[in-house]
Parts: sequence; C-alpha cells; structure tokens
Amino acid sequence: MNNSMILVVEDDFAIRSLIASTLEIEGYKYHVAKDGKQAIIEATSQNPELILLDLGLPDMDGVDVIKKIRSWSTVPITVISARSEDKDKIDALDAGADDYLTKPFSTEELLARIRGIYRRIRYIENNISSEQQPYFQNGSLKIDYGMQTVYVNDVEIHVTPIEYKILCLLAKNIGRVLTHIYITREIWGSSLEGDVASLRVHVATVRKKIEKIDANNKCIHTHIGIGYCMIKQE
Ligand code: CA
Repeated sequence: MNNSMILVVEDDFAIRSLIASTLEIEGYKYHVAKDGKQAIIEATSQNPELILLDLGLPDMDGVDVIKKIRSWSTVPITVISARSEDKDKIDALDAGADDYLTKPFSTEELLARIRGIYRRIRYIENNISSEQQPYFQNGSLKIDYGMQTVYVNDVEIHVTPIEYKILCLLAKNIGRVLTHIYITREIWGSSLEGDVASLRVHVATVRKKIEKIDANNKCIHTHIGIGYCMIKQE
C-alpha cells in the first residue's frame, strides 16, 4: 500500500512541506504540484492513487481542477480548505471530490483521512462490480439487495423504502462524503429545503434502528452542514 503515489496539490509552501514530510515519514511516495495546471498534468502523467487538493490555488479554482480530472479519472480526491469555506467544500464534493480536510489540520488527522481513503480503495477492489454483489456488509450492518432487507448482527431491522434507498446510496459510496444536495437529488429527484430536513430525520431514524441492535456500529457519519458518509467499520 505504501508503494502507491499520492499527488499533493498546494501552493502554500509551509503546508505543502508539512504534508510532504508527513507522507515521507510514513513511507508514502508522493509528487507535488503548486498550481492547478501542474496538478492536471501530474494527475495525467503520474497516475496517482490519491490526490490531496488545496481548493485555493493561484491559477485555477480547485473545483475546476476536480471537474477536469473527473472527466477522465475516478482517482480519489481529498480537498483541503479553510474552515470558513463550507460552500467551497460542498461544491468540491458535488464536483466529484471524495472527502475533505479542514485547515488547520493535524498530521494525525491527515494520515487518518489517507488511511480511510485506502480502506475504501481496498474495499472497492475486493468488491469489484459491487452493484452485482447480492450483499453489502459493513461491520454488523448487512444489506441484502435481492431481498431489499437490512440486518444488524443478523437481526432484520425494518426500514422504510426511503431509508433503504438512503442506506444503499451511502453503501454504494462507502468512504465518500455525500452532500445533502447530492443525496436528496438521488433519493427525491429534487433538493428543496424541506428535502434536506426530511433527509436528516430519515438518517436519524435509520441510525437509531442500527444502534438499537449494535450500539457500536457508527457507520453513518454526519458532516455537519455538509452531508453524510458511510464509514468502513473495522
Ligand atoms: Ca492555497
């Protein structure tokens, strides 16, 4: 896993050096790019397994970098941006980013996010054409796609059709942060204020149903003001 290459896109010298030295200590190979144009070139020529992308670049909007890369690649992209830029993070996720990291971040946080992305890559590699798989299993949570039934510790939990759809959407995108807008569009075909409010209620309900049987299964992670992510359980 540590033979894989990570592309670090960051114009700020101090942050770039921090990321680079952290990766180096952990044995990750990496390349750096200082602006959007270089990022796109490196993404094409170096075939990275993960891209850490600062959204505030000198030459291009980071969201446009994502859109460009997404036109030919599904490489995981973790965006890095300041706390005050929630709107930018949402735009980045909707443009196809997988995850985000908020500045300032600790090196532990950075490494935890990278491990999370690699867990997702391994999971997807092991479940190629996962849509064809009859089951989804994540810790104690199991979805039987054929029967459209959800189990926790082999106990069936009764979910509504909407809750089932939400669970399947999160499962299909395990490890990816999905925005409220993305989820409501996928589930309801629209994204009105009311849809986001009902999404919150549905997620809270389904989470309660899971935790009632397994209090330790915290597989649905809330990203406040942004959306939800299904976390791979160890
Ligand atoms: Ca920057």
